[in-house]
Amino acid sequence: MTQSSITSRGLMLALSSPSGAGKTTISSAILKAASNIVMSISVTTRSPRPGEEHGKDYYFVTKNEFHTMVEANDLLEHAHVFDNYYGTPRAHVEKELRAGRIVLFDIDWQGTQQLKSNAGDDVVSIFILPPSLEELEKRLKTRGQDSDEVVQNRMSKAMAEMSHWPEYDYVIVNRKIDQSIAQTMAILTAESLRRSRQKGLEAFVESMHRAV
Ligand code: 5GP
Repeated sequence: MTQSSITSRGLMLALSSPSGAGKTTISSAILKAASNIVMSISVTTRSPRPGEEHGKDYYFVTKNEFHTMVEANDLLEHAHVFDNYYGTPRAHVEKELRAGRIVLFDIDWQGTQQLKSNAGDDVVSIFILPPSLEELEKRLKTRGQDSDEVVQNRMSKAMAEMSHWPEYDYVIVNRKIDQSIAQTMAILTAESLRRSRQKGLEAFVESMHRAV
């Protein structure tokens, strides 16, 4: 028996942050950096926006199809956002985990809580904080023509999301993007080496005992 017989169960990485804290940049960077990280693709009842593709951005389904999935327990978590429903298909995630891959979720605190209660130990959660309130405000003023009201509205949404940081396993303050990306990768490396995720360890060590 060789070390290669130790296979690893993947994990679900829930990455949350207030908008403007750098979550999208970190997600894109880690997806590019590691071939064993894949994005979870949600199902939604909303219509595709220009440029969005079925099976790439979302699986676009009817409300009936969505409710059938909920009733069949085919979704790991789901939410009603504005007038539409969103959810995470269980089968795709389960297949990726069995193949040892990391499934990345770009979801808010509510989705993370649901994932944790439905998928427990398979979930690792990271919350990204902005380096300061001033910097967050600067990043939220993306377009020069935004009115104060629009910016204030974004700020209060960001503050509400930010209040949920204590519910996460790890917190990264995004001061320097390269460092935050490296820290995210370090968390993933450590979590992948957790004893509970390495299948076949017992047999591997036993085989060494037998060999002496
Ligand atoms: P949008 O329609 O702009 O793509 O997404 C609207 C909202 O739905 C965003 O806040 C997004 O994070 C959330 N969302 C997208 N997919 C899922 C999902 O699978 N589960 C949950 N809980 N929320 C989702």
